[in-house]
Amino acid sequence: MEKDFTSEQLTRYSRHFILPEIGEDGQRKLLNSKVLLIGSGGLGSPIALYLAAAGVGTLGLVDFDKVDLSNLQRQIIHTNDSIGTPKVDSAEKRIKAMNPDTNVVKYPIKITSENALDLIRDYDLVIDGTDNFPTRYLTSDACVFLNKPNIYGSIFRFDGLATVFKSDEGPCYRCLYPEPPPPGMVPSCAEGGVLGILPGVIGLIQATEAVKLLVGIGRTLVGRLLVYDALQMTFRELKLKKDPSCPVCGTNPTITKLIDYEQFCGLGRGGSDQDNIRDITVEELKHKIDAGEKFVFIDVREPFEYQIAKIEGAKLIPLGTIPESIAELEAFKDTEVIAHCHHGGRSRRALQMLQARGFKKLTNVAGGIDQWSEKIDSRVPRY
Ligand code: ZN
Repeated sequence: MEKDFTSEQLTRYSRHFILPEIGEDGQRKLLNSKVLLIGSGGLGSPIALYLAAAGVGTLGLVDFDKVDLSNLQRQIIHTNDSIGTPKVDSAEKRIKAMNPDTNVVKYPIKITSENALDLIRDYDLVIDGTDNFPTRYLTSDACVFLNKPNIYGSIFRFDGLATVFKSDEGPCYRCLYPEPPPPGMVPSCAEGGVLGILPGVIGLIQATEAVKLLVGIGRTLVGRLLVYDALQMTFRELKLKKDPSCPVCGTNPTITKLIDYEQFCGLGRGGSDQDNIRDITVEELKHKIDAGEKFVFIDVREPFEYQIAKIEGAKLIPLGTIPESIAELEAFKDTEVIAHCHHGGRSRRALQMLQARGFKKLTNVAGGIDQWSEKIDSRVPRY
């Protein structure tokens, strides 16, 4: 496996060669390594750029999404010119422009229970740069089954988390989160917002852990959860223990193959039957409006979002003000209440609050104003 460095490589990686902890051996390990990156978004952008610059030989990129203008506030691997193109193509272009040593393998697909093991099998380690619970559980379980390190990061508003799951030495994602949160209870970044710089900080912690694991140096975040607060500018560290009763990595595992993660996270068919809230499509909503049906129509987004885009006829009651608006809505307890937000998560939570107060006919607009803009009225701006 000994291969001589080219003169270009000797110069390119000279600052690594000087570090005794890395040196020629470490750089050779990096060049021979294969890293699978799930997601080429906020976290994936800085991770991919820095790992490519560091000389990681093969980067697998899994992302089925296309670049959108609203991504560019934080997803720094993409550019204005790449809006509308697949993220994996856009990322490959930037990586190749920076370091031709890096072999990019593109997977413009969604990672699923059917393909996860095949995707991950050939890689040395996995970096989780996703933003949804089903994919996190799926990635974690698959990594436990294949005994691959899974470098975890998550971001929300001004807060970030990072750790390394390595099931032979420490906990897995399920040891940390045995149960997924109820659907709609944890807002996504699209709903809750995120400081554009935040994924840079967390992503680079993940990239640092990847390099350490690949070269075999330092003390990793296995068994430690790093908690970052950008507003207070603090890093705290929580000890994480492997849960002996973990259904996947514990002593007597009960889950031994990949499952249906959408269903596990309550997002699959029947997942919303637990409450009386009915989902309707934007087409059904349009039909109801056109037919002149009687209902209370509320928009639970924030005022700034209402200024960007609105559906005519909807009354703005931001999610946080629902409790104080209940008295006002009380008169309509027996009328149908239809709620919408940006994508459908916050409106579901608003309706759950109303349900708890005895409201009966509750309807959620699936996909929110974003779907409305895509399917019904393209004059409504998307954001
Ligand atoms: Zn576990």
